[in-house]
Amino acid sequence: MFEYFEIARTDGVRQVNRARVMRLIQDKSGIDRTELASLIGVSNAAITNIVNELIVADIVQETISSGDSVARGRKRVGLQIDRSGGFVLGITAIATSVSIVLANIRGEVIDEIDVDPTQIENPEHTLKQIHKKASIVLQRNAVPMDRLFGIGFSVAGYLASDEQSLEFASYLGWPNFNLKAKLQSMFGQNVTVENVNRCIALAEIRFGTLADAKDMILIRSALGLGGAVVSEGRVLRGSHNLGGNLGHVLAVVDGELCSCGKRGCLNTVAAGWAVIHKLGAARSSYDTINKYRTQNEQLRELLGSEKMGDKKVISALTEAGATLAKHVLPTIQIMNPEAICLTGPVGRHSAYAGAFRDTLLHFDLNCRVVLGSETNIITPSMASVYLALSDMVYSPNFNFNQIVQAPIEARVS
Ligand SMILES: [Zn+2]
Repeated sequence: MFEYFEIARTDGVRQVNRARVMRLIQDKSGIDRTELASLIGVSNAAITNIVNELIVADIVQETISSGDSVARGRKRVGLQIDRSGGFVLGITAIATSVSIVLANIRGEVIDEIDVDPTQIENPEHTLKQIHKKASIVLQRNAVPMDRLFGIGFSVAGYLASDEQSLEFASYLGWPNFNLKAKLQSMFGQNVTVENVNRCIALAEIRFGTLADAKDMILIRSALGLGGAVVSEGRVLRGSHNLGGNLGHVLAVVDGELCSCGKRGCLNTVAAGWAVIHKLGAARSSYDTINKYRTQNEQLRELLGSEKMGDKKVISALTEAGATLAKHVLPTIQIMNPEAICLTGPVGRHSAYAGAFRDTLLHFDLNCRVVLGSETNIITPSMASVYLALSDMVYSPNFNFNQIVQAPIEARVS
C-alpha cells in the first residue's frame, strides 16, 4: 500500500509516519487515532503527537460522529483532511491543450483555466504564458504561498533518466532542456514533472476506477498514441526512462513517416492520424506541433456528431482500433496484466474502442478491458493534480515546515 514511500527522497521516520497518517485520513475519512495507530503499527502516543501537529497546522480537523459510541456516553472523534489546509496546482501541457487546475489537498477542484499558447512550438514562450495564467489563478483564489504545497506538471513527452530534462517530446516538438529546473525557477516552488500517460496510470491505480490494480497497461489514443505500463504497482521506466512509449513501436517496416522522424510507427496505423490519413484528409504525418494541431482539428471534425454515421469514418476507426489491439497483444501476453485501459479522444470513440476490445477478446485473454467510452478514466488535467498530491502532499516529501505557524496562544484563544 505504501510502496512508493520506499523510493522517497527523504527517509526520516517522522516524515514517513506523517505521510502514512495523512494518506490514511484522506483514504478513510473519519478514521480515529486508535485505528491509525493499529494500521500503522506505532503507539497511540506517537499518533496523537503527529495528529495534533497536523491539527494545529490546519491540515487535519476533527469530526464528531454520532455512532453507537455516543449512546455509550463516549463520543468517537474521527479525523478528516481540512479542505482549506492547502493547495496544489496541476498543469498539463499536451499537444492539443494546455491547462491549469487549482485543487485543495482533498483533490477537489477549486478553479481551472485553459492556456491558449500563441507559440506552442516555443517552450520558453509557452512556459511564460503558463506561469502568467497560474499566477492569475493563485491570486484570484487568494492562495497563501505557504499553503501551496506543490505543482504537478504532466507533459506529452519523456524526461531523461535524471527525471529533469526533457528528452523526447515528438508531439510537442520541444528540444531537450531541463524542464524541471526551468519550472522550479519560474515558480519558486517544488515541481514534479512526469509523462502525461504515466500520470494518468498512476492516478488511476491510486485514486481511480483501477484503484489497487498492481499490473496494468494504459493507452491514450488521440491523433497520436501514448502508453504507460504499471508493473507491481510501479510505473515501468526502463533504462532510458522511455518505458511505455507505445506510439513509436515499429508496426510497419518502411511504412508512413511518423512525427519522430522514423517510418512505420504504431501511430501511423493505429491512432487518429491513421484515421485521417485513411480518409485522405492528411497526406503526410505531423512533423511540427502546428501541423499536429491543424490535423487534430481535422480529426475532431471527423469524429464530430454529424459524421458519426459516415460508414467510411466508422470503418477507418474500426480498422485502427483492431490494429492497435493486434500490436498490443504480445505485450499483454508477456506482461499478464490485470487490466488494460483505453482512453483519449480517439480511444473513447465507440467504433474504435469496440474493435479494440473485440480483437483482444478473440484471443481469450484473462485481463479486464477497461474502455474510456464506458468508464470515466481520470483526465490529463486531473492526473496532474494527483501527481502533485501523491508526490508532494501524501508523501514523505511533504514540506511541513513551509507552513508559517501562527503562535499557539493565538490559536488557543
Ligand atoms: Zn514514431
